[in-house]
Amino acid sequence: MLTFEHVSKIYKGQKRAVDDLNFQIEKGEFIVLIGPSGCGKTTTMKMINRLIEPTEGTIFLNGENIMHMDPVKLRRQIGYVIQQIGLFPHMTIEQNISLVPRLLKWSSDKQRERAKELLSLVDMTPDYLNRYPNELSGGQQQRIGVLRALAADQPLILMDEPFGALDPITRDSLQTEFKKLQRKLKKTIVFVTHDMDEAIKLADRIVIMKDGRVVQFDTPDEILRNPANEFVEEFIGKERLSQVRPHIQTVDQIMNPAPVTVTPNVSLTEAIKIMKQRRVDSLLVVDQNNMLVGYIDFEIIDQKRSKASKIEEVIEKELFKVETGTLVRDTIQTILKRGLKYVPVVDAENRLVGIVTRTNLVDVVYDSIWGDGDSEIKAQ
Ligand code: ADP
Ligand code: MG
Repeated sequence: MLTFEHVSKIYKGQKRAVDDLNFQIEKGEFIVLIGPSGCGKTTTMKMINRLIEPTEGTIFLNGENIMHMDPVKLRRQIGYVIQQIGLFPHMTIEQNISLVPRLLKWSSDKQRERAKELLSLVDMTPDYLNRYPNELSGGQQQRIGVLRALAADQPLILMDEPFGALDPITRDSLQTEFKKLQRKLKKTIVFVTHDMDEAIKLADRIVIMKDGRVVQFDTPDEILRNPANEFVEEFIGKERLSQVRPHIQTVDQIMNPAPVTVTPNVSLTEAIKIMKQRRVDSLLVVDQNNMLVGYIDFEIIDQKRSKASKIEEVIEKELFKVETGTLVRDTIQTILKRGLKYVPVVDAENRLVGIVTRTNLVDVVYDSIWGDGDSEIKAQ
């Protein structure tokens, strides 16, 4: 979709800000550019929509040299989000979301439909459309900011440290949400950050830059496993758990893929029998399509036994879960912070695919301290 061939940028009277970039980005990829301040990330990004023009080399968008395209038309195909452009306080949420579609002269019906559709993607109802930013929580306002980037439905979106100014918790949840949206909408994203955690969480592939050059361009997994040089190692960070044991990164690699489950129509007596047989004190409840709906444990059953006979009457629906691909490091933090015994793992459609228990995690941590580094962790 996007190809850089020998692209360099020399600002007047200076050394090369960007030096001989060569890479290719596929459609639907989430690419993160990362590197120390001044390494050329913003310059690289701005050359894509011609806010800056390369001194040497060629950039192709869908096979076409962007220098042969009309810059206005080029920019219409490309969404662009820079660090925290806040919402406009005197505009409604709809007007804020529809900023670019309005500039592109979409009909007002089409604008409204799109705004509604986008709100529903982040589980917000259409009645937010007529509200003003100050009526929304900080987190909701940030969500609207992200939706604005998606509003005109451009296939390629450039984002320059869009979450840079957020507090860690809002940032974390927005990252998760944005990644989900990107997958769903199949957008190609070029995203600049200086935060390695953010890069690992979001990227399909990461471009690590230093002094205007690409030091490594690879999947997060590969970068953690085989950092190209000391600079990359340093940049990844020494205290990262996944670096201690680089081949363990996501919950998929350590989860137990066969958690003990029941369906809601099972009786409490039967449930207790299963728990005893399988030696567990809690059961995950799934529907006939293996969608995770909740859990039950001895304590809940014990409390409600006199008034109920089936699981569906006592099921606890509030439970913390993670999606496949979640980093082990993040999961450990959550488990410790919330005092959880285990965390179910679901796919993007909420189908149960496994469970990570404290024991799984303890194994990982101990193995990374005492293990010989070669033995694979069993999925039990
Ligand atoms: P990053 O986004 O990685 O921090 P930039 O792309 O902004 O890096 O900058 C790369 C290099 O180019 C830096 O040395 C910076 O000082 C220089 N630079 C950026 N913009 C300009 C400009 N308009 N004129 C001159 N030098 C610039
Ligand atoms: Mg920058």
